[in-house]
Order: sequence, then C-alpha cells, then structure tokens
Amino acid sequence: MQIQSNLKKIHDDIHAAAQKSGQDASRVTLIAVSKRKPPEMIQAAMDAGHRDFGENYIQEAMEKIDLIGRKSATWHFIGHLQSNKAKFAVSYFDLIHTVDKVKLAREINRQAQKIGKIQEVLLQVNIARETTKSGAKENEIMDIAKQVCRFDNLHVSGLMCMPPFFDDPEDARIYFKKLKQISKNIETLNLPNTTMTHLSMGMSHDFRVAVEEGATLVRVGTAIFGARQ
Ligand SMILES: *Cc1c(COP(=O)(O)O)cnc(C)c1O
Repeated sequence: MQIQSNLKKIHDDIHAAAQKSGQDASRVTLIAVSKRKPPEMIQAAMDAGHRDFGENYIQEAMEKIDLIGRKSATWHFIGHLQSNKAKFAVSYFDLIHTVDKVKLAREINRQAQKIGKIQEVLLQVNIARETTKSGAKENEIMDIAKQVCRFDNLHVSGLMCMPPFFDDPEDARIYFKKLKQISKNIETLNLPNTTMTHLSMGMSHDFRVAVEEGATLVRVGTAIFGARQ
C-alpha cells in the first residue's frame, strides 16, 4: 500500500512540475530504482501498475529480473558498467543509461550484434566534473557521440547525468540546464543512430526541478521504496 501511494504522490508531483514549467508530463517516465530492494517490492510496484525499473548491479539485477520476468517490465541499467559485464547488460536491459566511453560502447555493440539486438543507450555526462563519479566530461561528449554513432547495433537516444547532492535541490538546476544544452548541441550534428529524445535526470530529492528543466526519465528510489541500508 505504501509503495502504491508513494508512486501516486510522485506522479502527482511530476504532473505539477511539468505543468508549472510548460513541459508535457506525458513525456516523462518514472523509473522506480529498486537497487538493493527485494523482488517482492518490485512486484508490489507492478501490482500498482508500474512497469519501469532501474537497477545498478548486474548480478543482483539478473536474479531479480529472472524472478519477475524479462519481458514483464522495462528494465533500465543505471549503474556503472564494466565492459566484461556488457554481455549481461545487453541481454537483460531495455535501456543502458551509463555509456561514457567508446570502448564500452564498442563492447555493448559487439554483444548486441551477437544476439541481433539494437541496444538502446544513453550517454552519461559527468556534469559537475566530480572525480568520484563516472560519466564523460563535457568537453569529450561531442567526440564520443560522433564515434558511438558509428556502431550499428546501438541506438543513442539521449543523455544521462547525476549532479551532486544539494540540500536545496534548486542548486541542481544549473546542471539540468547544462545537460539539456549539451543535448541540443549534439542534436545539431544530425548523427546517424542517434536521437536526442531522452534526458535521464532527477532522483528522489531533485526530480521536480529536473522535470521543470525537461527530464523525460526520472530515476527515483528512496521516495518509492524507502531508505536503503
Ligand atoms: C540509486 C540511484 C538513483 C535513485 O536514488 P534515490 O535518491 O534513492 O532516488 C538514481 N540514479 C542513480 C544513477 C542511482 O544510482
């Protein structure tokens, strides 16, 4: 019951944020981030009609996805991906949000080719240049986009970022704006296998601001499933 009412509240907040800023709320997908939460909680969200889930750790995700059903939901990989796990990411996930290197893209492409899949991916930008976070640097992202678009078994459908945590989510706004600007810059290149459809940005504490700035995929964990240990 709690999960259901949390989902409802977040959907309401997404609508309000979209309305306030003239965004189209129907373009925003709420991804329920279920990392380190048991499959029963995913099932509870599914029973409430929810279908998009985000996971960070390949091994943990595979176990849960096998239980729930690969095709029963839309699975988003949002964690740091190592090339040697690309094979599993490709077979288990509909969208990989965290491509930040050409080498990783090449391996995802190779694995996708093997199983005849066009893997949808986002390019992750380290938007505040934090040394502790993955993601491509802003000054590298155009070059990465130009190289990744040559991989025929990938489709790049947008960008992802994770700004620093601020007590006041308003402080994250400049970073969301920045990601949108980078997306526009890439769009002008008219690259093959690339459409700047998605901005994956916003978490439990700052998704409202992200939606105001044009997020189409918001990744919310704690506010749906409660705190993680
Ligand atoms: C854990 C995680 C989230 C969700 O964070 P909450 O603060 O629990 O909403 C979103 N995005 C990424 C990349 C994460 O690792």
